[in-house]
Amino acid sequence: MNSEKMKRKGTLIAIQDSLVKARFFDDVIMGETAEIAVDGKSLSAEVLQIQPDPKNADAGIVEMQVFEDLTGALIGDEVVFTGKPLSVLLGPGLLTSVWDGLQNPLYKLSEEDPYLKPGMKAPALDETALWVFTPSVKVGDTVSGGDAIGAVPEGKLNHKILVPFDFGKCKVESIIEKSSVNITQTVAVVSDEQGKQHELKLVFRQPVKSPIPFKARAIPTETISTGVRVIDLLAPVGYGGTVGNPGPFGAGKTVLQHCLCKYALADIIIMAACGERAGEAVEVFKEFAELKDPSSGESLMNRMCIFGNTSSMPVAAREASVFIALTVGEYYRYQGYNVVLLADSTSRWAQALRERSGRQGDIPGPEAFPMDIPDQIKGMYQRAGADRGTGGSLTFIGTVSPAGGNFQEPVTQATMDSTGGFWGLSQDRADAKKYPAIDPLVYTNSVYDSFISWEHRQDMVDILHEANDIDQTISTIGLKKVPVEKYIQYQKGLTVDFCVMQQNAFHDVDACTRPERLKVINQGVQNLLNSSMEFDRDAMNDEELKSMIKTKFDELRQWWRDWNSNAVTDEEISTLPEKIEKFVAQEEYAL
Ligand code: ADP
Ligand code: MG
Repeated sequence: MNSEKMKRKGTLIAIQDSLVKARFFDDVIMGETAEIAVDGKSLSAEVLQIQPDPKNADAGIVEMQVFEDLTGALIGDEVVFTGKPLSVLLGPGLLTSVWDGLQNPLYKLSEEDPYLKPGMKAPALDETALWVFTPSVKVGDTVSGGDAIGAVPEGKLNHKILVPFDFGKCKVESIIEKSSVNITQTVAVVSDEQGKQHELKLVFRQPVKSPIPFKARAIPTETISTGVRVIDLLAPVGYGGTVGNPGPFGAGKTVLQHCLCKYALADIIIMAACGERAGEAVEVFKEFAELKDPSSGESLMNRMCIFGNTSSMPVAAREASVFIALTVGEYYRYQGYNVVLLADSTSRWAQALRERSGRQGDIPGPEAFPMDIPDQIKGMYQRAGADRGTGGSLTFIGTVSPAGGNFQEPVTQATMDSTGGFWGLSQDRADAKKYPAIDPLVYTNSVYDSFISWEHRQDMVDILHEANDIDQTISTIGLKKVPVEKYIQYQKGLTVDFCVMQQNAFHDVDACTRPERLKVINQGVQNLLNSSMEFDRDAMNDEELKSMIKTKFDELRQWWRDWNSNAVTDEEISTLPEKIEKFVAQEEYAL
């Protein structure tokens, strides 16, 4: 049989937005990809369903979703089935790359044409770049899927060259000496147990919908320093953990993700910018290329890769982009690295599923999302995790943008069920410019360890609650009716909120607080909370007293805010607990 005959083909018989049907006569595999020839271009699609053809007993009908714009497609256009599932190219060069949702490199494509056109394709990884390959196995060695045969330096990382994960036991037949190679060159030949030979390169394709296995899955135990105080104190995340970050439009989800990109301590950050405003994605590429990693001084992109869904991409590609990003994350976890994957926003991802299942005529679940949306969301977050076997981890932080900020909707609910941490952004706090707008009272939760003790964490939450209750009292029955002791508690709570929970994401020093500094802050908070401030009750009436207390606390807050932005040396940093000790003892303000 010649290869032309072996190609399995079909023809388009129905087109409905990104969903098409095709008639075929050979076999078709569930989930395999296909190429549709439209106007001389080749558009990628994925088989979703296979049915018998009611009109033709010899034929079948496939339903496919097309990842690219179908303008110009006609009934009768040819479909070629590839036999391969949706996959991603893994290998050196992933870092610093920017792709669309199907791993087409955006920078490369824009050299040809500033606008992405359907069917435009470029190699996912640079084929000309040279990598210094050092072998780590020799002829005669036995290797199997996931084993390293050598490594290349990729930036600061040692990028292991792995045997593709679906390989069984193989014998190394040949391997090159240490040398510079590109990703198209063969570096080793192995033979499998049937004696069949396989050429190995620096890269291989990996299906995206079945996870890369763990060596030894472990419970996340080590806490990530994200630099964001309210997170690291009240709702921390461990390496390998999962977080849902819901918030109404404009509450600061994207700003928070950018903070994490800059400051979260991890080897690799992957961003899946999923269906959010296209301009935003472009800004990220430009901004991050110029930004320096605060810890290394190098370009932020050196530890990043970005999957962006450009405006010209249909929604189906959003679904793909999250799976592709997860697979890249798992690949680096398998190499022993700590990876943080940021997906903004998983609601747009879920909407892609909703549109597709709507077109497929599935029975809809709540709010027209597919019935199995909770399982799909759970399945996505389950791919995160720590691996004791490799020492690596994949942390997954997904934003959710519920319509109208309603956290009861299905995607937010399913996300809360699937994740270990919860950072809910509140409209009220965003409106009051209390950034980051994570509400410490109702919307923080985490199964991971904080950098401070559970008791101290609880002390902070308690004083914030108390202050909030007193605030309600003040606004309903007036300040007059609030006893002085309560008013002091109220001021303490306000101080913890204003000086600890709130943080300026755009100030170099304040934007990032590391654990050592958190400990100092915690000491300061403890000093503040564990004091009963005594005032001379006879000197003035309650109203005068409250007004004086407010003035004092205002001064403290101003001082503390300045400390947040200005204290950098150890000596400067250590002044906080002492300052607060003096404040509560009122040494500076002798009555
Ligand atoms: P979302 O992604 O939730 O729709 P954004 O992250 O785009 O919202 O935030 C909207 C705007 O809110 C930002 O452009 C910025 O002006 C403001 N903002 C959000 N977070 C912060 C922050 N931490 N510090 C200062 N301003 C912020
Ligand atoms: Mg956003």
